[in-house]
Amino acid sequence: MNVPLLDLKAQYARIQPEIMTAIEEVCAQQSFILGSYVEQFEQTLAQFIGTKHAIGVASGSDALLLSLMELDLQPGDEVITAPFTFFATTGVISRLHARPVFVDVCADTFNLNPKHVAQAITPRTKAILPVHLFGQCAEMEAIKVVADAKGIPVIEDACQAIGASRNGIQAGAFGRTGCFSFFPSKNLGAFGDGGLISTNDSKVAERLKLLRVHGSRSEYHHHLIGMNSRLDALQAAILQVKFQHLADWTIKRQKNADSYRQLFHEHGLDDQVTLPVVEPWNIHVYNQFTIQTPKRDALSAYLTEKGIGNRIYYPVPLHLQECYETLGYHKGDFPVAEHAAQEVLSLPIYPELTQDQLAYIVQTIKQFFD
Ligand SMILES: *Cc1c(COP(=O)(O)O)cnc(C)c1O
Repeated sequence: MNVPLLDLKAQYARIQPEIMTAIEEVCAQQSFILGSYVEQFEQTLAQFIGTKHAIGVASGSDALLLSLMELDLQPGDEVITAPFTFFATTGVISRLHARPVFVDVCADTFNLNPKHVAQAITPRTKAILPVHLFGQCAEMEAIKVVADAKGIPVIEDACQAIGASRNGIQAGAFGRTGCFSFFPSKNLGAFGDGGLISTNDSKVAERLKLLRVHGSRSEYHHHLIGMNSRLDALQAAILQVKFQHLADWTIKRQKNADSYRQLFHEHGLDDQVTLPVVEPWNIHVYNQFTIQTPKRDALSAYLTEKGIGNRIYYPVPLHLQECYETLGYHKGDFPVAEHAAQEVLSLPIYPELTQDQLAYIVQTIKQFFD
């Protein structure tokens, strides 16, 4: 049996006619930049996330970049964030010649540990940037207590967490802005790149809308120095169709996670692997189902040999990346992140996964440990 890590063809096969109709509508209009499809999708997403505004942009990376540009981040400013995440989270900080200031993550959820945040704050701290990793919200209440006490804005990296919530509040509705990605492998994926920023602040929304069109308020009059970063109308139309299925897909991901838990337990694997830990007040949307084991590298190779897709998110923590040597961090600075990088392994969790495939994956893991 072959089980890919993600099966977008299986998803597309189920929704092809709806998608094609949407694409043809946009083509008939020949209106590709912003316009009604983007506006409709923005409204849909704002309502879903529970924020007043949503602004479609070109990617999740740009959602983060524009959020920091909106803060008028200056060279030498500092942004506190986690070292265990995708590079985009900090790449955007560096692109603005600001400095990522890392604090370690929690051992169970891999999310920013709020206990370390206060001591990392300096007069140059301009934002705190928690990531809702793998589809579970970071400890936003504790992070916001520290941030609010110092008047520091919080930018959420919700790129993996569309639909996740914590104490009834959705990812993207906690911070000054929430940043989403529609990269094809995310829970709501476009047919290419796409992103979105959520915010409750009308002034912030207004500035972001200017920043995505080179800061232009009226044609050829530039109020701010922005960039070109828009969600394509074609992508918005596709995403509008796919959004109608998101709730169903999320439930299927959660059911697959439940099946994994049951199967791992039935096979007596509780002592061999650590399964994802979900805080009781969090709704996890499982963009990834990430287990932990000291035998990670051998297990990964074994699964690959048996035709089971798997991936290490992320093998090198950001403070140890070659391009960040100049930041002056060393091995041992963030032991929890470094330990996670050695032990994590993500397994297939996509909605179309069958019970047979799930059983095969867990049986194969059992064989490995035997
Ligand atoms: C995917 C992702 C991004 C960037 O999204 P793109 O749309 O690929 O630019 C940022 N942060 C995290 C945590 C992500 O997973």
